[in-house]
Amino acid sequence: MTYAYNFNAGPGALPSEVLQEAQEELHNFQGIGASILEMSHRSKPYEAIHNEAQQLIKELLELSSDYDVLLLPGGASAQFCMVPINFLTKGKTAGYVNSGTWSGKAWKEAQKIGKTLVLASGEKEYFKRLPDLNNLGIPRELAYVHLTSNETIGGIQYKSFPDTGDVPLFADMSSDIMSRPIEASKFALIYAGAQKNIGPAGVTIVIVHRPLLERIPEAIPDMLSYNVHAKHNSLFNTPPVFSVYMVNLVLKWIVNQGGLPEMAARNRQKADLLYHVIDTSGGFYRGLAHKDSRSMMNITFGISSPEIENKLLVELEQEGFMGLKGHRDAGHLRASVYNAVPYEHCKTLAEFLADFQKRNG
Ligand code: PMP
Repeated sequence: MTYAYNFNAGPGALPSEVLQEAQEELHNFQGIGASILEMSHRSKPYEAIHNEAQQLIKELLELSSDYDVLLLPGGASAQFCMVPINFLTKGKTAGYVNSGTWSGKAWKEAQKIGKTLVLASGEKEYFKRLPDLNNLGIPRELAYVHLTSNETIGGIQYKSFPDTGDVPLFADMSSDIMSRPIEASKFALIYAGAQKNIGPAGVTIVIVHRPLLERIPEAIPDMLSYNVHAKHNSLFNTPPVFSVYMVNLVLKWIVNQGGLPEMAARNRQKADLLYHVIDTSGGFYRGLAHKDSRSMMNITFGISSPEIENKLLVELEQEGFMGLKGHRDAGHLRASVYNAVPYEHCKTLAEFLADFQKRNG
């Protein structure tokens, strides 16, 4: 069977070794005689997977012992409302960095719950450049500061994060979690849907600094309370068991590949290959993001002529490249080069783009 060159933005490529392993144990998990899909989430085999996934997240991100790792349903979008429901309590104001589509959505949801303040915005630069985080002027009484580490649609990504002092820093890392080492201790809360770098859709990782849980009001509904989920080790209700199982396999794969420093080195190489083709094309291809803000995960670019762009998209599909059409809100092209996308696939794409320019430039 021939596999496509998978550049999907999410759900995105999974390591083929992981898919193979999941296939092999689908009918009969570890000789038990049943699939992991058919077992209680309170069974020993499932609990071992659940705990191992949480442990691997702690190890890979080098979290100190005062962080809890939650495995929740609802996608990152559910976190857009859960974050303010838990922490934007009466009389408080939350600070948001508006860097594009996803941070904008998070901000919009928070406005339904309470008062917000935009600390920095990339709107004036059409969200092609990251808002500067160096001089945020954070009022000390803010409930939290929220940012998005990688804007999946615009293709811009923070390389460093601010020190927010006593104000807790929260981040949506849906599209770059586990793609590089981070200074986890800077963050009081991190959330990420799994379906880009660490697994299939269905489970969202929430990493929370435990002392923060004490601030959560008792009155909020159980399913929306981080405190309730933490107290029950994310087994308050039935968790998305198959997604957690897959995440666990992917995390083990990341460890075996050399961990986050190795992921970062590979991702840098892959992104560099593609940006090089764009930058040396003499204007035939145009990167959409400013160079100082470019993402290593989502490479967004266009061609000056819409006709040639359409021709390229048709040819890419014919040649087995998948997922390069940009998001419906942004247009143009986007190559998502998450952890599981092999270097060779990026090289094949880079060569194809260079050849296409020769034929059409
Ligand atoms: N945040 C970011 C940065 C994303 O890229 C996405 C999905 N593409 C979301 C949030 C929303 O995730 P979900 O579909 O899991 O709700």
